[in-house]
Amino acid sequence: MNTRLCLSEARAALQAGMELNVRFNYTAANVDSFADVLREFENLSVAEKDRLTVDYQPVWQDGTRPEADAKAERQAERYSACGLHMAENKTISPTHCYADFKNSIVINYTGDLYKCTAREFHPQLRESVLSPDGQLLWNSRYRKRMAIKHGTPLCHACRIFPLCHGGCSQTKLERAVSDVCYYQYSEVDKDALLRRRGEWILRHPEVSY
Ligand code: SF4
Repeated sequence: MNTRLCLSEARAALQAGMELNVRFNYTAANVDSFADVLREFENLSVAEKDRLTVDYQPVWQDGTRPEADAKAERQAERYSACGLHMAENKTISPTHCYADFKNSIVINYTGDLYKCTAREFHPQLRESVLSPDGQLLWNSRYRKRMAIKHGTPLCHACRIFPLCHGGCSQTKLERAVSDVCYYQYSEVDKDALLRRRGEWILRHPEVSY
């Protein structure tokens, strides 16, 4: 069931035995405001905290993603430290975005083809068109996406590359090639990400990837 509750109702629901997911749709501009919510939940019992999952989801269209992601991760650490459970961090996961796969295509009603569903379907952002005989005519934007999707040498040498991939192919398309970490993670941040990932795996033994 997908229902929106205010914080006092959420506390009451947890105390009544319901399982809840608290979701933060974050940008760099709003992520700090979610820290206050922690105060509402830090005094819950262990059993109540066990029924609560905190889920940080980036606003994909936001242009401040690296900064926002790093802030969200540091905040998630504080939630975790007070005994609350974090949802799987989709930006740190072995799974790749569907836009990275050759066999994933978004077909607009105009016949223009795209890869990413988190961007406007402007004709200048299309990556292919359907020819009258049904061929997919991929353009240079698509070829660039496929060429850079595996990341930079810096990312290849990074110890969390199998989880991070240096971001999705869309973020790689939109940023300048760089020799610094896209997410601006320190080694301490990476330790925190690995710990959070490990804790999530331990709570989800049914997940096999
Ligand atoms: S260097 Fe940064 S962006 Fe690249 S894989 Fe490592 S954490 Fe991810």
